[in-house]
Parts: sequence; C-alpha cells; structure tokens
Amino acid sequence: MKYNRSFNFSAGPAMMPEPVLEEIRDEMMNYKGSGMCVMEMSHRSKVFQEIADEAEADLRELMGIPDNYKVLFVQGGGTLEFAMVPINLMKNGVAAYIETGSWSKKAIAEAKKYGEVKIVASSADKNFSYIPDCSNLDIPENCDYVYICENETINGTTFHKLPDTKGHVLVSDQSSMFLSRPCNVSDYGLIWAGVQKNVGPAGMAVVIIREDLIREDLDPKAPIYLSYKTHADNGSMYNTPNCWAIYCCGKVFKYLKSIGGLKAIQEINEDKAKVLYDFLDSSKLFVSSVRPEDRSVMNVTFTAGSKEMDAEVVKASEAAGFDNLKGHKSVGGLRASIYNAMPKEGVEALVAFLKKFEEEHK
Ligand SMILES: *Cc1c(COP(=O)(O)O)cnc(C)c1O
Repeated sequence: MKYNRSFNFSAGPAMMPEPVLEEIRDEMMNYKGSGMCVMEMSHRSKVFQEIADEAEADLRELMGIPDNYKVLFVQGGGTLEFAMVPINLMKNGVAAYIETGSWSKKAIAEAKKYGEVKIVASSADKNFSYIPDCSNLDIPENCDYVYICENETINGTTFHKLPDTKGHVLVSDQSSMFLSRPCNVSDYGLIWAGVQKNVGPAGMAVVIIREDLIREDLDPKAPIYLSYKTHADNGSMYNTPNCWAIYCCGKVFKYLKSIGGLKAIQEINEDKAKVLYDFLDSSKLFVSSVRPEDRSVMNVTFTAGSKEMDAEVVKASEAAGFDNLKGHKSVGGLRASIYNAMPKEGVEALVAFLKKFEEEHK
C-alpha cells in the first residue's frame, strides 16, 4: 500500500476511502481559497454553509431520500439516538422493539426510561446468532413505532428483509451498514446512523426522519437539543454542529457517487464478504458465528473454537500487520469489520493469513 497503512478491521472508528483522505489532506491548510482549514471556519460562513448544503444534497441523491423527509446532522454519536428516538416518537408511550443483540439491548434499556417497551421478537435464546422471524409480529395497536438495529455490529447479523410492522412506523439503527447497500427510505419513518462505522469521523449521527413524525409537544423538560424539531427548524445548526464530520462525510458521499452509488458499493461489499464467508465455511478450524441467511456483509464474527485459540489468532494477526480482529469484549471471539472502505485485497490478505494459521495449527 502506498502509505504503508494497515488493513484495519476495526468496528469503528474505521477505515476511510483513501482518495477521500487524500483530498482532505490537500485541502487542510487552505480550503478552496478560503484561507483557512474547515476546522477553523465559522459554521455561519457562506463557505461552510455550502459544504453542509452539498453534503445533504449528495446524501439525498445517493439514497433517493423523498422530499417529505428531513436530513439532520446531530451530535452525540449513536448512543444519544437511543434516547432521542423515544423522547421524540413516543406519543402514546408504547413502542415495540426487536432484540437482536448488544445494540438493540442498549436501545431497549434507554427506551424503557420513557415508556412501555414491548419486545416483539428476540434472538436471545441462541446468543443473537440469527434474525428472528418478523413476518407476523404481535404489535400493540397503540404502539408508536417498531424499532430494529438493522445490522448488529457486535453480533454480526443483518436484516436482509425488513419486519412486517403492520402499518406502524419503522425506526432503524443503520449505524454499521449505512450506505452499504441501496435503501428504500420510504419503508421507514426514521433512519439513524452514527457515522464513524461506515462513513466518517466519530461524534455525529445522521438522522433521516419523515416530516410528520417531528413533534412540538415534547415533555417540557426534554433538553432543547434532544428535540428533532430543533434540528429540523435550524438546518442542523441550532448550535455549532460537528463541522469537521459534516465536511468529511460530505466527501465520502461524493466518493460513493463517483464510483456508481449504492448499487455499485453493494456489489463490491457482497463480493468482498463472500471471500471471507466462503473461507470460513470451508475451514476445519474457523467457524462463522451466524446463521448463513442472516450474516452481516459488514461485520463478520467467527471463532477458532476456543477462547485460547482465538487469543492466539489475535496475537498472530497483530504480528502479521492486521489490526482489530478481536471480537467485542462483551461477546469474545473474532470479528473482521469490512466496511465500504476496506479494499478486497485486505479481505484476501486476511483469508491467506487465516489459511496459513490453520495449516500451522492442525
Ligand atoms: C457503534 C454503534 C452504536 C453507538 O455509536 P456511538 O457513536 O459509539 O454512540 C449504536 N448502534 C450501532 C449499531 C453501532 O454499531
């Protein structure tokens, strides 16, 4: 590789496309003749307003976001959305959650503070190694929304088919799969994503919300910042936004457009993931942790059979120049996050390493 960069399998913050990093480098000292770096700019300046407007326009084009949806750039990363969703959307105080792993559990714990949470499906019985059947859920009539974590980063599962919400609003945490494949936005009431997994630097979430779900009558004690209306009414600039993240994400949106959009990146991602899953399925040492039809294209969880062996793999992988193959501390095992920016060569090199490891540990 040109810059002696490592193949970084981190679940987030994670790799960024190299052409994007190069452009950011080139604009670092003097952004397009403005005489300053984007980090130094007033968010109220014309030049920054253009950066923010273009980022939104490019995202709208990439995803085909309908006009009756607002795009918001909110600070607080992914975790603040666990609270913002119930604070803003629980009108009747009832919501249905689908429990598929670590991140949906966190969302459930937070939502319980604000109202009644009904878990309408769960894969807890098998260690969250699959996506439960969501074709005929028992959803309360007065429920305000149905919530999913569309890609469970830690457990390595993905909804390849959306649940039947029976006409209720669908809310999705897309953090670790945002912009990895085409998305029909009108299937959802609200999509949110922490951007540091698949798009940009940490510290920001993109929220895509159908306009009729934006309310004014929140609990008067709810912080002003936590109301989606605050962000919608002020073009995501009620206060100083995460200017740097907006700028970097905007670059990634343009980059994705330049390579052919979400259909193109989906093909690249599926091709890449297949290399790794095919190896795992043929290996006598390594096993994938997830039921084949529910496997994530972004986060590949697997194990070498025991805690000790997994630890050996991690050690050997670090010596071989691969970073962050250790599974999340809460579940153990191994995990390779292969987001949009991970080149296919990285996955091929990983498979070659795992093959060699297997040979040496027969
Ligand atoms: C990382 C992650 C989050 C939390 O994001 P933070 O920005 O660290 O708060 C939430 N949901 C999913 C699916 C994630 O992968």
